[in-house]
Formats: sequence, C-alpha cells, structure tokens
Amino acid sequence: MSFKNNPSFAVVLPAGGLGKRFSSSLPKQLHLLKDKPLYTYSLKTFLSIPEIIELVLVVPAEWESHFEKELLEDNKILSESEQNKVKIVLGGKERFDSVKNGVLAIERASHVLIHDVARPLVSERIIHDCFAVLREDFACVVAKPVTDTVKVVSDSFVKKTLDRDLLWLAQTPQACKLSTLKDLYQKIEEKPLSFLPTDEASILEFFEIPVKVVMGESKNDKLTHPEDWNRFL
Ligand code: C5P
Repeated sequence: MSFKNNPSFAVVLPAGGLGKRFSSSLPKQLHLLKDKPLYTYSLKTFLSIPEIIELVLVVPAEWESHFEKELLEDNKILSESEQNKVKIVLGGKERFDSVKNGVLAIERASHVLIHDVARPLVSERIIHDCFAVLREDFACVVAKPVTDTVKVVSDSFVKKTLDRDLLWLAQTPQACKLSTLKDLYQKIEEKPLSFLPTDEASILEFFEIPVKVVMGESKNDKLTHPEDWNRFL
C-alpha cells in the first residue's frame, strides 16, 4: 500500500496518567481550565481537523466511566458526529503503555500523531506542519529551541554547562507511520528496552529512524504542576 500521495491520519491522546506530580486526587487532565476539563481542549482541536479520521483517547482504568459519561452520554462536550470519531481505550502503568494501547486500537489510518492532553493549546499550524512532514515520508517531533542556559547538576552542584545551540525541548505531537510504530512495539516485546521512553521520538531514535523537527510554540508547553495553570488562564 502506498501512503505517499494519500496518507490518512489518526490521533492518539494519552490521558491515562493519574497526575502524580499534580498533588490532587482528581487526575490533572480532568481539572477545569477556565470552564472546561483540560483534556477537552486538544481533543476538540483535533476533532475540528478534517484530515484526522480517527481519534483514540487513552484514559485511566479507574476513571473510564467518568470519561465515557462526560464524552459519549452527556452530549455537552461532543456532538454526535464527533462522538462517532472518538474511541476510548484504557491506559497502562506508564505513558509508554498507554500510548501503545492507543496505537494498537487504530483501525483505518496510515499515520499516527500522538499528543499529550496536558498540552491544551496545540495550534492548527503545528498539526498541519506535522502532516506536511509525514507526507514527505518522515517521522516528526514538535520541539522548541532552548532559550535558557542548561546546566547538568548533581548533589546541588553544577557539573557541566551544555551547548545551548544544540538543545531543543521536545513537545507533542510526535508522529510517524502507524506500521513503523507497530513494528517497533513488536521488536520491544521481543527484546525490552533498557530505558523507559518518555516519548515516541526517543523510541524512533533508538532504532535509528530519522525524526524531523517541527517548530514548537511556548503556548504548546505542558501543564505539569498546579502553578503552571495560572499561565494558561
Ligand atoms: O506525566 P506526563 O505529564 O509526562 O504525562 C504526559 C501525558 O501522558 C499526560 O497527558 C498523561 O495523562 C499521559 N499518561 C498516560 N498514561 C500514563 C502516564 C501518563 O496516558 N500511565
């Protein structure tokens, strides 16, 4: 099957974390940002893009019924046609496991974009730039150049200063051909990695698959700690 001229896109939105760094019993992605749950921002953005034909939301098992009611029964957040595009699947222990469950649930698309719902303000420009790189037949990661000077610190003392010109902060989406990621999951099952990948680009990099960078944006930063919230209000 040739994808070059006619790729089709799915999105996996990992929302399966329990927000350990967020110090709240309600997972971070369910907290309200202005008047809407955090995870609904990126969900609605991707649903508004016609090129996206499937959308998989990965949720924590403990909160499955909450998400199902909020998204598929209440009709408050999603219209009926939007609901038809969304599949809810259960996450795993680590982000890696959640994304894998999501990717394996894709049924029709040739390519997949993975986007953390903790980045609510992903722009249409970023998403379309990812499509453009996928159409060139490359994998991609959204990233932005580091502006601060970066130190390696150990036991409260500076060990080293890194060359800032080479450093970029990885964001999401991260995207590639669906078959590529599925093949790598198979390889990892046969021979587990010696590290826990915190994103997809590091898996591709480990297997020496070229990953092109799409310019990120500060408004696409991740909300991690409660104090990050104020920057987005
Ligand atoms: O913990 P971190 O902020 O890096 O998580 C990034 C994204 O991965 C979040 O959207 C979070 O909900 C998701 N995640 C997941 N399953 C896990 C852990 C995190 O889907 N087990």
